[in-house]
Amino acid sequence: MDAKLLAYAERQTPRYTSYPTAPQFGPHIDAARHRAWLGELPESAELSLYVHVPYCKKICFYCGCNTNALHDGAAADYVALVLAEIDRVAAVSSAKRVTELHWGGGTPNILTPDEFTGIFERLATRFDMQAPIAHGIEIDPRHLSAELAQTYARLGMTRASVGVQTLAPHVQRAIGRVQPFERVAQAVADLRSAGVDRLSFDLMYGLPGQTLDDLLGTIRQAASLRPQRVSLFGYAHVPWFKRRQRVIREEDLPGSEQRFEQAEVARAELIAQGFEPIGLDHFAVPGDSLEIAARERRLRRNFQGYVARIPDAIIGFGPSAISTLPQGYVQNLAGVGEWRRKVEAGELATARGLAFTDDDRRRAALIERIMCDFEADLSAFGGRAAFAAELARLAPLAADGLVRIEGERIVVPEDKQPFCRLVAQAFDAYSAAATQHSKAV
Ligand code: SF4
Repeated sequence: MDAKLLAYAERQTPRYTSYPTAPQFGPHIDAARHRAWLGELPESAELSLYVHVPYCKKICFYCGCNTNALHDGAAADYVALVLAEIDRVAAVSSAKRVTELHWGGGTPNILTPDEFTGIFERLATRFDMQAPIAHGIEIDPRHLSAELAQTYARLGMTRASVGVQTLAPHVQRAIGRVQPFERVAQAVADLRSAGVDRLSFDLMYGLPGQTLDDLLGTIRQAASLRPQRVSLFGYAHVPWFKRRQRVIREEDLPGSEQRFEQAEVARAELIAQGFEPIGLDHFAVPGDSLEIAARERRLRRNFQGYVARIPDAIIGFGPSAISTLPQGYVQNLAGVGEWRRKVEAGELATARGLAFTDDDRRRAALIERIMCDFEADLSAFGGRAAFAAELARLAPLAADGLVRIEGERIVVPEDKQPFCRLVAQAFDAYSAAATQHSKAV
């Protein structure tokens, strides 16, 4: 890679799973505003519910999620609180019709079948979940049992995202997450035989001590288990933000050039294994709903990454959960203790958020197209005259071949797609604010 591209790859850029991005959220969006926004939802609105389980049995060194080490009684305690939160939120939400339910964390599969069923049943009591819903979960394969998989299937779950990350034993030790291939294969078999058979694997590059051979070996072993989707993420080393990552030594990480090569080689191998590339970092087998949406230019992007559709509103439960409402974003308090105090007091556990302006909505839609299609037509967003400053910001990127400006069209060339976050950033009105993000590639 030439020095210029390397410098671009080193730049810190948001992932644009939302716009405006989470660092722009502020405390002016409080519980009163949260309550008002839920109350203003149209009754006919389609809801996606998200349940954040803020515990893991053991914390991985590389983890960037909001989670805590599980201790005795924590899960039962959490369940009681989240049930109360469901009651509170449902009481103020004027919309009840659910079309999607997702469980994330942390590790949602640390909950026992009874605990999990209890939360599901409370959601089904307080919301309208009569019609079939898209129901999915993030799974840590180390803690999945056949009984849990059967519980999920009984509750209508069809989709699971399995945290594979790497299958190279020395890399697993370096990231504090040891899970032999056989364990992953058993979890996959348990999910499939129960009927949870739409599987997505999360894989990572840029991990400490990880070589190209490690990555290729992981992809080939993972592909042998035939998931329908794969997400391939670069490890984001942000120890100033996630203190637990300080265990990982900077000098053990692949350099920017190696990271770039890993991303490229992994992409080529996934394509060779029969997956179609979707957006920046997703892959899906032909015929999968994500692949069809991408082919038909209907791909969307939200906090879950790339998705085939986005309901009218997303309501989050649990510490740090983010709700996406028509009026803006609202995030819950992130610490279990502060979240608990609000829930016990019978209040919404609102921490912060952001009210969309018309300009936010316009830029969000434009950035989404760049992230999903690698191109955007400015005439759909007010025309190029409305983006003079942004086009000036893009000029050096255009001169270096990272983007083409063709009249009203902004096009990221196919071989420069890994840099599309930099192109999106040119349209980010908040990007001047000094916020540290992960590397662009
Ligand atoms: S299992 Fe996932 S959420 Fe839990 S510590 Fe590991 S990476 Fe983080």
